[in-house]
Amino acid sequence: MSDTLFGKIIRREIPADIVYEDDEVLAFRDVNPQAPVHVLFIPKRPLATLDDAVAGDAELLGKLLLACAAYAKREGFAQQGYRTVINCNEHGGQTVFHLHVHLLAGRRMHWPPG
Ligand code: 5GP
Repeated sequence: MSDTLFGKIIRREIPADIVYEDDEVLAFRDVNPQAPVHVLFIPKRPLATLDDAVAGDAELLGKLLLACAAYAKREGFAQQGYRTVINCNEHGGQTVFHLHVHLLAGRRMHWPPG
């Protein structure tokens, strides 16, 4: 199990505002939200970065994205739009080394990101 902050959230060792959970995926609100909706979707199985993913992780990666899309539909902002982001390693801006997908919504996003 991952020894990062997110591993502790999975094990309920530190609190989080959990909005979705299934056997393989956990989703909780980001503690420092960058949009009115900012949820992190993580695999329960630890994977440090997207760069560590291998072919055998394809189904899990798909499940993470589908969980984001299902959440957006369920919460009613799918049609208006949202953004999913995976930061990878230093230049990607990754700070927690347990793979996570940011789901951001509730405001207009800008491109390119800073
Ligand atoms: P990264 O920069 O690695 O892509 O994103 C890490 C995210 O985790 C950041 O948006 C940060 O606000 C969030 N974060 C860091 N520590 C905690 C925590 O203890 N709880 C929650 N809910 N989010 C956290």
